[in-house]
Amino acid sequence: MINDDDFIKSCDVPGPTKENIRAILLYKSMVQKEDIVVDIGCGTGGISVEFAKRAKKVIAIDKNPEAISITRQNLKKFNVSEKVQLIEDDGLSTIKNIDNIDIAIVGGSGNDLEEILEVIHNKLNPNGRIFITAILLDTKVQGINKLKSLGYNPKLVEINISNGRILDRGVMMISENPIAIISAKKR
Ligand code: SAH
Repeated sequence: MINDDDFIKSCDVPGPTKENIRAILLYKSMVQKEDIVVDIGCGTGGISVEFAKRAKKVIAIDKNPEAISITRQNLKKFNVSEKVQLIEDDGLSTIKNIDNIDIAIVGGSGNDLEEILEVIHNKLNPNGRIFITAILLDTKVQGINKLKSLGYNPKLVEINISNGRILDRGVMMISENPIAIISAKKR
């Protein structure tokens, strides 16, 4: 796993998704070296880099040019540029042109979450997996409901991580913002 502090960051781009969350996501995804992964809303590339190290190919999409620039720098820093196709565009219109998806990760979707999930569903290979990383309560509810309506049996895990800060007189716990990982597998 890559340390949070090792990623190149920008105050205009959210991320990287924290290390412990990336670890749980990787574990849940059961990513294999022949998998094609799509990362919608790649932000700083935190998730794209980790999957690129383990999968066959990652397609990383973000509508924010600054996010694309930071992701490009992180891909280079971690030597995975050749495994990743970087697309600066809106997630919904981009995935309409992508077939053959084994793992789809939605890290940002604006108001398009439901439509994005519909398109992913149509493009996902048998046994393909969908993951939504959601901070907003609204995204969690919308994601679960949409996946249910598409015939999935979605799961949600809410992750609360606290890190110990070592002080002279003891260890103080500092909490990260809670985040949910919603997951679903195509049957
Ligand atoms: N997982 C990322 C952080 C994602 S932050 C990391 O580890 O760094 C969410 C990102 O989703 C933002 O960069 C935002 O620009 C992008 N985003 C939001 N809606 C989008 C959409 N409809 N299409 C493409 N990107 C989108």
